[in-house]
Amino acid sequence: MGKFKCPTCLGTYEDPQPNGARYYHACPPIGASELERMPEGQVRQLYPELPAAFTRGDLERVCLQRAVNRDNHIDENIAPGVPGRFVKPNDKLDDDDLPRVSAPRKLTHRRPL
Ligand SMILES: [Zn+2]
Repeated sequence: MGKFKCPTCLGTYEDPQPNGARYYHACPPIGASELERMPEGQVRQLYPELPAAFTRGDLERVCLQRAVNRDNHIDENIAPGVPGRFVKPNDKLDDDDLPRVSAPRKLTHRRPL
């Protein structure tokens, strides 16, 4: 079991999870609290539909209406349409057990904690 920190969103996670399931990280879209910490010009580039004087509520509303991914967004999830696999506690898994449509995804961006 390894602990990792995403270099893009700085989220932390374990893979495999304590119950044995593999974890594929996907960065969440940019949230209202992150927008609040950005320069206004950058926020307006992402959400030009914001009113001239916007509030936290406006930021929350636009985030719900249209999600925006951050630069260098990471999504390790298996390709859509590929059947998933239920994992039971104590199942021993390695990458060869997981269904793939192509070569196993290289997780070179992962940074152990
Ligand atoms: Zn991330």
